[in-house]
Order: sequence, then C-alpha cells, then structure tokens
Amino acid sequence: MSLPTQVWLAEKFGSYYRTAQPNLPRIEKREFGFGGWERKIEFRHLAFPNAQALWARLAQDKPLYVSASNAYYEFPDARPMARKNWQGADLVFDLDAPGAKCASGGAPCSPFTCEACLHHVRENAVRLVEDFLLSDFGLSRAEIRSGFSGSRGFHVRVFKKELEPLGREERREIVDYIEGAGLTLERMLVPEPIAGHPNMHRLLGPTPSTGGYGGLFAKRVIEMASSPEQAITISPKLKKKENAERFIAGIKAGRWSDVPIPHAQEVFHHLLESLKLSVSNRVETDANVTLDPTKILRMPDTIHGGSGLLAKTIPAGTDLGSFEPMHSALAFSMDKKETVQTTRHIPPISLGNQTFDAIESGKAIELPQAYAIYLVCKKVAVPV
Ligand SMILES: [Zn+2]
Repeated sequence: MSLPTQVWLAEKFGSYYRTAQPNLPRIEKREFGFGGWERKIEFRHLAFPNAQALWARLAQDKPLYVSASNAYYEFPDARPMARKNWQGADLVFDLDAPGAKCASGGAPCSPFTCEACLHHVRENAVRLVEDFLLSDFGLSRAEIRSGFSGSRGFHVRVFKKELEPLGREERREIVDYIEGAGLTLERMLVPEPIAGHPNMHRLLGPTPSTGGYGGLFAKRVIEMASSPEQAITISPKLKKKENAERFIAGIKAGRWSDVPIPHAQEVFHHLLESLKLSVSNRVETDANVTLDPTKILRMPDTIHGGSGLLAKTIPAGTDLGSFEPMHSALAFSMDKKETVQTTRHIPPISLGNQTFDAIESGKAIELPQAYAIYLVCKKVAVPV
C-alpha cells in the first residue's frame, strides 16, 4: 500500500478512536499489541495503567490492528514472557470461516466474506454457546461474551474466575471434549444380553437428557426419526408411523433396539460419524487461541485493519444467531462519502443495509465512507 493510502486510512482510524472507547475487563493486567499494514502485530508487550491511557494511545498511534492478551499478568509489559508472571487467562474460542473454501460450495469468497460463510461460522458459534457452554458446562449467559472477529469469524469469550487458572492441558481437554475427539459408537451404545436368548441382546444408549455428545446423538436420531423423509435413511421400517413412534419412545428411555434396526451397528456408526463431522464442524475453533494462554487476539470493539469493520461485541440481549456483522459492526458512516478507485473487479456486496452492484476494475467511484474504507482495507481500492 502506498504511503498516501496508509496515511488516509490512519486518519480515518484515528478519528474513530478519538471518540470511541473500546473496553475489556482488567486492562491494566493485559498485554497489548499494535499492528500496521505490513504486520498485524508490529509491536507487542505494551501495557496501559487504565482504559483512558489506552484510548489516548489509540487516538495518537492510529494502529490498523489492536490485539489484547487473553491472559492476565503481574507485569504485562515485561519481557521475555516468563517475566510477565502469568496469573490466569480468559477461556476464548476463535471460530473462523476457512479461507481456502467457501461455505456456498462455490469459488473461495476470500478476501471478501460472503453471507454463506458468515452464516456457517455463526451457526457454529451458536452451537458452541448453546449446546456446550450453557447446557453442558453450566455457564450463565452473563459469563459469556460473543463478538464478531472483524473479519471472517466470531470470538466467544468466557469470563469466569474459576476458569482463569486453567493451563494448556486442561484447555486442550475442553477443546477435545467439545470437538468429540476419540468418540466411538462402542462407548455410546452398549449391548445387553437378553436372558434365555444366548444370541440376542438389546442396545442401551444415551437419552436426549444425557450430557455432551450422548445427548446430542440421541436428539439428532430422534429428530431424524420424526421426519418421514429422514427416518427412511435410518431404516425403511421407520416409514411406518407406529414403528417410528416406538423407536423414538425407546430412545427417550435409553433403549435403542425397541424397533430392531437391521445392521444397527453399521447404521448408527454411520450416523454418529456424520453427526460428529457436523458437530466438529460446529466448533472449528482455532484451537491455538484456546490452548495458548499467552496468545494476543483482536481486542473487542477495535477496528479490524483488514476490513475496516469493528470486532464488535454483540450487545447483551442481542441474539448471536441473528447478528449480521456486515450491517451491524460498522465503525464508519454510511452517510459521509469518499471517492476511491478500484484496483480489481469487485463482486456485489451488501454492507450497512445496502447492496452495492459489482464494480469494474480501475473505476473511480464515490461510495459511502464505510464501504469505501472496507474496499481500501481489503486492498482492492485506493483513495483518490
Ligand atoms: Zn464464502
């Protein structure tokens, strides 16, 4: 990026930080990093005594990227890392759309982020929060803060004193559990011999109220058996309504063979594997962020230099599942105008509750400020 473009962008970011005040609990205990056009983290080991000092520095330095540690330290600016004296860390999950492929099944949408990709990652984040953090781990909504990453994903942060001391191994166990690592059908469905019938057994297994994957598996099978179109993929026997009902009632009681399914092991194995795949897709966490308790990560409510959008915290009471970052995570105005020149073909993009037509390469065009900055940050336009 040319120097004038960098200066132009820094001015916009600086004007945002002169009035905005991003916050995070216990700023004085965290390590910060700032980045520019060349590197997302150019300087780290920064520390601030309070939020006001951080805000003043943001307005002055106008960084394109602001990262903060998940960890709390006694001396956050000390180096090397060991001298910081680690005191604990938030439990943070980073869920991102894979850059190499698009959830729509079409050509990769990167560097832009399409609706399909955002939808896919948002669904994963919702399941992480609802199925695991709330249902399974018993956390409360007040302890969980979700936000847009500013680019192609979502961050889910858990603020809970009891979890702060967890080390790398304990954090790995949490991720393994959430991703269903090592889960087998043999551990899920147990054959029980039937008295007097040496070659027969019944299958005992989880019910919908079982914790973790057992409950998810039972719910998924019941959901399939309840839909005539899907029930048939378990067994043609379940086409009959009475059979489907008996099958479902059995699973609700933990009996998986009330309606004997031919080749049950095979069918259920296949089902569990397909569920696991979609469940582990549910939580494509960037495990490093969760496992590495010294990692620094985009600070909530700062601008992401690769999009000009905010890494916006989803306000309490707003449903994560319906949060639309391209419309609700804007840092800049849709009323003010800026003129930019495109440097490649731009596909149609929706942003700020407007849909913009495709723009040909090399065209000078006046656009709403938020969209103009988005394109400059994506390195597909330059200011004129
Ligand atoms: Zn996509």
